[in-house]
Amino acid sequence: MSAPVRVESAGDIAVIVVESPPVNALSQAVRAGLSAAIEQADRDPAVRAIVLHGAGKAFMAGADLRELEEPPKAPLLKDVLTRLESSAKPVIAALHGAVLGGGAEAALACHFRCATSDLQLGFPEVKLALLPGAGGTVRLPRLVGVKKALDLMIGGGSLGLQEALSAGLVDRAAGDEDARTAALAYAREILERGIGVRRARDRVIPESGQAKRVLIPEYRAALPRAARGSQAVERILQSVEAALELPFEAALEQAQAAFQECRISSESRALRHLFLAERGSGGEGAKSARDTARPVVRIGVVGAGTMGSGIAAACAQAGFSVVLVDAAPAALEAGLRRVQSITDSAVKKGRIGPEEARAVAARLRGVGDLAALCDADLIIEAIIESLAAKQTVFEQLGRLAKPGAVLATNTSTLDVEAIGRASGRAADVVGMHFFSPAHVMRLVEIVRVRDSAPEAIATALAVTRRLGKTGVIVGNAFGFVGNRMLYAYGREKELMMLEGVEPSRIDQALENFGMAMGPNAVGDLAGLDIGVSARREWKERPDDPRFFRVSDLLVEHGRLGQKSGAGFYRYVGPERRREIDPEVVELIRAEASRLGVPRRDVAEEEIIARCIYALINEGARLLEAGIARSGADIDVIWCNGYGFPKSRGGPMFHADTVGLSQILRLIGRYREAVGPRYWSPAPLLERLAGAGGSLSGYRAGGQPAT
Ligand code: NAD
Repeated sequence: MSAPVRVESAGDIAVIVVESPPVNALSQAVRAGLSAAIEQADRDPAVRAIVLHGAGKAFMAGADLRELEEPPKAPLLKDVLTRLESSAKPVIAALHGAVLGGGAEAALACHFRCATSDLQLGFPEVKLALLPGAGGTVRLPRLVGVKKALDLMIGGGSLGLQEALSAGLVDRAAGDEDARTAALAYAREILERGIGVRRARDRVIPESGQAKRVLIPEYRAALPRAARGSQAVERILQSVEAALELPFEAALEQAQAAFQECRISSESRALRHLFLAERGSGGEGAKSARDTARPVVRIGVVGAGTMGSGIAAACAQAGFSVVLVDAAPAALEAGLRRVQSITDSAVKKGRIGPEEARAVAARLRGVGDLAALCDADLIIEAIIESLAAKQTVFEQLGRLAKPGAVLATNTSTLDVEAIGRASGRAADVVGMHFFSPAHVMRLVEIVRVRDSAPEAIATALAVTRRLGKTGVIVGNAFGFVGNRMLYAYGREKELMMLEGVEPSRIDQALENFGMAMGPNAVGDLAGLDIGVSARREWKERPDDPRFFRVSDLLVEHGRLGQKSGAGFYRYVGPERRREIDPEVVELIRAEASRLGVPRRDVAEEEIIARCIYALINEGARLLEAGIARSGADIDVIWCNGYGFPKSRGGPMFHADTVGLSQILRLIGRYREAVGPRYWSPAPLLERLAGAGGSLSGYRAGGQPAT
């Protein structure tokens, strides 16, 4: 492999070229290469100025996250950048594409910055519970002032060229030239005009003394609630305080120490795991998606209900031409209206302009007959959850779809293979399991069945990515990965309600753990009747009268959730205010006594443990069966589709954090306390615990079983 950093000569200007695909991440090899290149250029008497350039599609997109698992290896980025800034020759950054994190810190250490119009400059470290520890917290306030620096580092967003120019972070726009050519021209001009070096470190922070006393405490007090408890946000504030108070070098040391503290925090480790897991979730599929996906221009969506209309909206907004089909004219009308209101609200939120909204509407057409899908490249079926009804649609699609069209079903639980067989072209069939609301939720489970052609999977993955969503390939089991695990999680909360825990206490405990919403509130939102019909289709469901008995009972009493005004809670007034309903508690108590379930005292710790460890145990079973391909995939699914707290990295990462042996011990404890029926550990969990292995790092061997 060639060296990731080289020095090229352009007359009396040295161009330091970083070339470390795909995004010039600042790995140890890049840092060492940079350090040597700076020495070389600085020492060479023929060199009068230095241009720093990133080859490829980015200047430098940040740290190499995999290296952050280990203590830092020399040279540290902060030292490389200090050396760069100290150069006696003008250093010009040739910025283009991603200039993020460590890349942005490198840009600040250069004396002059020139940028192209595709610039994306920012400090996203906070999103991984980190801070810019290589000089960002010390240089940025000197360049843009305290308030703006905090906005950038705590907000974690990025600036385009115009914003960066007006903030004073870019000195020169490249115009039509590429970044390197423009930076070279700028360097020549600097030499000709005899402009000397200009270091951020020598600047005085504009607000100085006053800022320290007033601005930072005020800023801290005005933070949104979610940011206030964040260790990384607090460390950013403290590092900017240090930048105001201490000499440059000392402030740099302080920031580096704060960075190391954040680096080893469980939150940052969890977020880094998820970041890498999401990028790897397509696995080999991601690579083949680029290579073998069939071209998709026209998408057909069958069923204009809740899901179909959301999917159609997402596809039209992503630029596909969409035909939405529904057998019922009134349902089609309502579906088209829903798509329109999704587009309207995107305009209102400023996500798309009015012109783009008109183009989205023009890309979408509603029809009543499947025959209109004869030229679609991909057809996504989203009709009611009935095997027979779906098979009828697939049988028709098999006859009328063009050769090579990919046929996808959005079923949440049914056997994709059985649905696909009806089409007579099983190789073209995949599952594409979207989550509700489909235009918002980022996750799509892509279900591979025995006969699915790799190109069909690759096509589904590629389209998912074009929708701005994350696709995870899963095997064909009842409920696939996400919903199958949800049954284990839900089973325990239902049992605990029969044991005497009130529905609201279950929700509160799991929200305290960090779930976005408690499971009973989620049930009320989705509609409890949906679960009843889905469970009915599950042939191997546990033969246990207590299994999801509380949900079934509520549906029997007409309590379907929010849509009927009552479910686990009651919903009062026009704004549907959620209230605890004593009637539910009474219903559950009577049912528990009818079933002879003994009442127990259940502590909050047990509520959380039983739900979460049941989830983990089921995840381990799915991994072993090859239904989930990796522990990381499970974490991506649960954090993006089910509101699992990202700060815990997903259920499998959380299991590793707690310790697999500890989880085994607790499974044993609940086996004693509530009976062995559901509390036998997954063999994989036992094996990994015994061998000191990891669930989040586990990859199932070979193809998923179908
Ligand atoms: P829905 O009842 O809102 O919509 C179904 C639509 O399909 C209706 O408009 C109906 O008129 C139409 N339809 C029925 N038979 C048809 C046929 N033969 N041809 C054309 N149109 C037909 O249902 P939904 O909630 O949108 O769910 C659709 C699918 O998505 C189901 O398989 C469901 O399991 C799955 N799903 C739902 C959710 C969710 O949260 N609602 C989440 C993920 C997946």
